[in-house]
Amino acid sequence: MDKICIDELKIFAHHGVFEHENVNGQNFFINAVLYVDTEKAGMRDDLSCSVDYSAVCALLERVMTANVFRLIEAAAQTAAEAVLREFPQVRSIDIEVRKPEAPIEMEFRSVSVKITRGWHRAMIALGSNKGDSRGYIEHAVEQLCACSHIRSVRCSELIVTKPYGYTEQDDFLNGAVMCETMLSPHGLLEFMQSVENSANRTREIHWGPRTLDLDLIFYDDEIISEPDLIVPHPDMHNRLFVLEPAAQLAPYYRHPVLGVTVGQLYERLKKK
Ligand code: ADP
Ligand code: MG
Repeated sequence: MDKICIDELKIFAHHGVFEHENVNGQNFFINAVLYVDTEKAGMRDDLSCSVDYSAVCALLERVMTANVFRLIEAAAQTAAEAVLREFPQVRSIDIEVRKPEAPIEMEFRSVSVKITRGWHRAMIALGSNKGDSRGYIEHAVEQLCACSHIRSVRCSELIVTKPYGYTEQDDFLNGAVMCETMLSPHGLLEFMQSVENSANRTREIHWGPRTLDLDLIFYDDEIISEPDLIVPHPDMHNRLFVLEPAAQLAPYYRHPVLGVTVGQLYERLKKK
């Protein structure tokens, strides 16, 4: 991806853990790399196809001066999020907030925090078989749409399916969502769990009745194997109720472990 770079943008602001820093202020320096496809702007020589770096600098100044953060971590996070939200062509951003006048009683050049944030595509499976299932799923989609760290939400049709695993329970309503998120995989999982909890979800029987279940199916092409998070979802290829809505939304999405597309996985499982 092409890069637009901003070097050592100087901004006087009031961030710090000490009160004197919040009162007196000091100079901060920002380095940013914006990942943007500049091909069209380059071929047409047209700014409207690219990102106006002076507008980005103005936004960075606004974020840095309209807030008083204790940590440069928070300054960097807030600045990165603001750029990703206000400039949709920016796929991701590296940002460094440097603090050369930090309160350290030793000789040093500067301290800084460097972070990378960006838009990632995610697929989430939704299910419910308790209470007002349609209402719970619609509520979940609304919450995904309303989340400031998520954009471009597309929802499949909802389908009625037979229970899986523990079969002595009501039919399920299932669907899937594709979206873009600037949250990390664990950040997204945490948000999904807060949505489940807001639907009065209680965890009783594994695979048992639930008001709302959100499972992370894909996150970019990442492969994650951790105690609390496995991506791609380890059982998605055996579940028609995941594959049918998934194939409706993104038949071309290639499973990064199995090497076949969602459309192919769906056709294969349907034949079994
Ligand atoms: P299930 O969806 O398998 O019926 P739960 O919804 O109760 O079970 O989730 C149990 C745990 O699964 C969660 O606490 C979560 O940490 C873990 N988990 C692992 N991988 C994923 C994933 N890809 N999506 C959602 N939860 C996951
Ligand atoms: Mg789950």
